[in-house]
Parts: sequence; C-alpha cells; structure tokens
Amino acid sequence: MFCDRPFHHMQLNVDGSVKTCCPGWIRKPIGDWRRQTLDEIWKSADADDVRNSITEWSFRYCNRKVCPMLHHLEHLPKSNGADTKQHTVELRLIMLSLESTCNLTCPACRNKLVGAKQLDQSRERVTRDVADLFNKRNDMTVMLSGSGEPMTQRTSLLFLSCVRKTDANSRNRIHLFTNGTLLRKNWAKFPNADEFHVTCFIGIDAGTKETYEINRRGGRWRDVLSGIDFATDRFEHVALIFVLQANNYREAQKAIEIAERLGCDEIRFSAMMNWGTWSESEYKKRAVHIPGHPEHDSFVDIFKSLRSDYVRINMTTLTRVLNK
Ligand code: SF4
Repeated sequence: MFCDRPFHHMQLNVDGSVKTCCPGWIRKPIGDWRRQTLDEIWKSADADDVRNSITEWSFRYCNRKVCPMLHHLEHLPKSNGADTKQHTVELRLIMLSLESTCNLTCPACRNKLVGAKQLDQSRERVTRDVADLFNKRNDMTVMLSGSGEPMTQRTSLLFLSCVRKTDANSRNRIHLFTNGTLLRKNWAKFPNADEFHVTCFIGIDAGTKETYEINRRGGRWRDVLSGIDFATDRFEHVALIFVLQANNYREAQKAIEIAERLGCDEIRFSAMMNWGTWSESEYKKRAVHIPGHPEHDSFVDIFKSLRSDYVRINMTTLTRVLNK
C-alpha cells in the first residue's frame, strides 16, 4: 500500500475533529472526540471512506501540496495491480492534540500567549480513555502534542501521569513534540512515563541565540540547549526541528553543529507554512523555499552544501525543491 496511515493513525484535534494524519494533510475528519468514543470513531463509516480513498488510489481527501508522502511527486501514484489484498486496520498511533497551550508565542504559530485552562470534562474523559488504551495495548505510540507545548498542557500532563508500564505494554512508545525549554524541569515529575521508550522532536528554528529568541519568541537559548542536552541523555531518539525562513537559513550548518555537539540523532529541516498568523505578502517575504524569492538560489546553494558525519540530515518537505 502506498500509505497506511489511515489504517493505523488517529489524531485528536483541538476543535474536536479526529483525522487520520496531520489536519493540514488530510481534509476529511473521521469523527468528533467530544461526542463519540474512540472505538466509535475508529470504526465509523467516515473512517472507512478515508481508507477506501487510499486503497482506490484516488487520494481524494489528501492535500498534495503538504503531505510528505505526496508533495515531492509530479503525479499522483498509481496502482501496479498487485496491491489488491485486504489491509489490516489496527490503531497503533494516537496523536493527542486536545489543546494549544504553550509557554512560547512563536510568530509562525500564534500572535498571543495561550495559557493553561481548566480541564473540561470531555477533554479529561478522552485523555483518560487514551491512557487506558495505552496501558492495555502493546506496540502503540502516543504523540504529545500536535499543537503547543506538552509540558504546559493539562491533557498531556494528565496522560503522562496515568500511564503505567507492565509486561503487557512494554513495547509502547511516547513521542514528544516539544520546544524543549521545560523538559529538564518538568520531565522528572513523570517517572512512570519515563519507563517507556521515549523519543522526541525539539523545535529550534535557528543556529544562534539572537535568531532563536526571535523565531521562538518567549524562549531562552540557554533553556532550549539545556533541554536538548537533557533529552539526548535520557531519550532513545532526539531530532531537532528547523523550520526554514528568510532569517534563519544561513544558520542551518550552525544548527547541525549544535545537534552534533549535544548528541542528537537527527535534524529535520522543513518548509515554513502560513498558519494564518502572517499576511500573504509577509509570508512570501519569509518563504525562501519558494522559487522566485530573491534569496531562493542562495538558500538552495547553502542547503546543498550542508554536511554532518554524526547526525542524519532530513530535508522532509524541502526534498523536492532541492532536487530540482
Ligand atoms: S494525506 Fe498523505 S499521509 Fe495522509 S493519508 Fe493522504 S497520502 Fe497518507
């Protein structure tokens, strides 16, 4: 099968919608966690419809421009006729993205601080349901979180405090999407979560203190470096996330050197998207990955020369533009 995500993944989003991958990649929701159980959503007709769009090779709900499986292809993939068997539907990964609370206000993401709110009943119920499932099943991954900082989110913190490792779930994983600034201070509060396999992506978006404190507004350089250092000592796999824009692309090699020095496994570069925080003209000024930007050729030259002997350099959504 070309893409098996709808057969194994579920993402619970802030607005109540549930999708089978990142909400920007796929249009159709498969349910609403505020009024359905996880089981009802996973077995719903809408979930089957999304899965059929993959097995029928129509990809009718997928956004070709941003999906990492499709964005680098000139044409939609076609069946070679061999892929006709029934596919196993088994929930193996849940992304818990129930709130957007964060201690930073990165300009690419938001214009104002989103602080922690009281945990409402439906968020608490679904978080406990996810933790129950995680405690009972094996070979499952829970990701925290698709929006904001898990170390500040009541739902993520509740999940981390509810999980218990046993022989029956010993292969489960927790994956953190984090800005890293609170990891050293807060992770120790969750000794039970720490017993699982833990991996993490840490957003850095810079190679210097000056640029970091612009792009990750509210974050302190020394805190993120300390968080990365903590994570590489503790977790199984640590990747730095570097979202490209006009003010940071010249610092990419410096970010790679930081990843090497602090013992990261990988650095992942990606194209910046406009999440609605910038006007179209402001976005275009920043989006050096788009051909025609005055600094596009300079970005391509610099990125083609990036090197590391120690960490994996992953170009994710920049692959297509760099291969042209
Ligand atoms: S959007 Fe991409 S990842 Fe999501 S189902 Fe479609 S092909 Fe798969």
